[in-house]
Amino acid sequence: MNTAIIAAAGSGSRMASDRPKQFLQLAGKPIIFHTLAPFEECGNIHEVIVVLPAEESAGFLSMAGKFGLRKLTKVVPGGATRADSVKRGLQSIRSATAGIVAVHDGVRPFVTVEEIERTIAAATETGAAILVAPAIDTIKEVDSDKVVRTVDRKKLRRALTPQCFRYDLLRKAYENVDVNDPSLTDESSLIERLGEPVMVVEGSARNMKITTPRDLVLAEAILRDCLG
Ligand code: C5P
Repeated sequence: MNTAIIAAAGSGSRMASDRPKQFLQLAGKPIIFHTLAPFEECGNIHEVIVVLPAEESAGFLSMAGKFGLRKLTKVVPGGATRADSVKRGLQSIRSATAGIVAVHDGVRPFVTVEEIERTIAAATETGAAILVAPAIDTIKEVDSDKVVRTVDRKKLRRALTPQCFRYDLLRKAYENVDVNDPSLTDESSLIERLGEPVMVVEGSARNMKITTPRDLVLAEAILRDCLG
């Protein structure tokens, strides 16, 4: 049984709004429900766990019913960091039936069913796979205010989500980890620390993370384009 963990317990401080960004409206619907739709539709996802700020948990399941989300089995209260929130989601999975775990940011509403399927397929084969997009800018390594070197752009990828792993491997990766470590911004880095290979699956740059008010304007434009 494959499970999606949707990390949506952030406070959205960079959005400068009184509600966490995942609950802001995008084309008349909270962002989080846009994000959940392709996981609901994906044949290779069997259950969905959403990690939310504790104060948002009450009432979410009934709202989910309104949006026709039948795979949503659990709403788990999140922690202080993304890693802490994902770990809590992971701990709520029944190990006996666990297969692939797909971890996805609650504020990435434009991932497609096909991208989810390809990432799950790669993880099923190898144990760990993440969706990536090309680096568009030229990237410099710097030391305070000086350029150290230019990194070969052809070898760089932006890490997106979902990031998919065999359940046992992800559980092992989260053992003995300080979830408050600020350098822990994705799951792949934990697998890398174990020395295990992580495959990359090329995805679309449309799969953006909505972080700032400007991103929300961009997201509205993407959606209009896609609907029009
Ligand atoms: O903060 P960042 O933009 O990296 O957040 C990525 C995702 O992780 C967001 O969907 C956010 O809601 C989630 N998150 C979480 N728990 C936290 C912080 C962030 O689930 N404590």
